[in-house]
Amino acid sequence: MTKDSRDAVLSLFDDTGRRKDFLETGGIAQAAQSILDIKKGQWNAFFDMVAREKVQSLINRLLRESKASCTSAVKPLFDEVTIKMDAMTPQMKEIFQASVNQGVDLIKSIPSQYFERISGDVMRTITTPTSSLKELSRNLAKYGEMSYRRANNIALDQTRKAYQSFNRQMLDNAGIQKGIWVHTGGTVHPRHKHKAFNGKEFDLAKGAPVGDDGGYVFPSQEPFCRCTFIPIVKFS
Ligand SMILES: [Zn+2]
Repeated sequence: MTKDSRDAVLSLFDDTGRRKDFLETGGIAQAAQSILDIKKGQWNAFFDMVAREKVQSLINRLLRESKASCTSAVKPLFDEVTIKMDAMTPQMKEIFQASVNQGVDLIKSIPSQYFERISGDVMRTITTPTSSLKELSRNLAKYGEMSYRRANNIALDQTRKAYQSFNRQMLDNAGIQKGIWVHTGGTVHPRHKHKAFNGKEFDLAKGAPVGDDGGYVFPSQEPFCRCTFIPIVKFS
């Protein structure tokens, strides 16, 4: 998407970096706008088409892996418990569908964001005599990278959410009700409430009262949260 769009935008300028005239089509600003519109339409359609497929295959892979190897914290438990992913419970199917739908919506928003960003820069370059093509080219590359990083982060985030949801569901099936919140640092903006709740016990069915909006949430439920949990096994 980004290379294709960048090439299209840069074709508005000649080899020396000067704006081409586009006299026959009503000027360069109009030419730029129509290029951006066309590219945006093309890529929106493409993302609509592949988003569902991509997200679904990603989560499917996750499920296969989660079947083969649970996280180290949870693994000992599941040596005892039979997990049949093929026979998903209705709740698990719901979790799966929700994860897919959320991921699809997020990924579909990427082209709009990207084009919103580059449109401003393209128009500024055209209308400001002092702006340079080099700078535009650099910015386009930067926005492209941001888009890819975002797509990647969304995929990872959804995978994490689905994984944690499945773990909770499997534990519930195994009769385990409590977990210990494990705050995972490493993110640029760690949530202080999550950090403070590190090591504390919470109800696996309810979550912990550390949500951004003050409500109950599960580890990794909030956007880009990487927290996880350790199940509490009580031997009676
Ligand atoms: Zn967190």
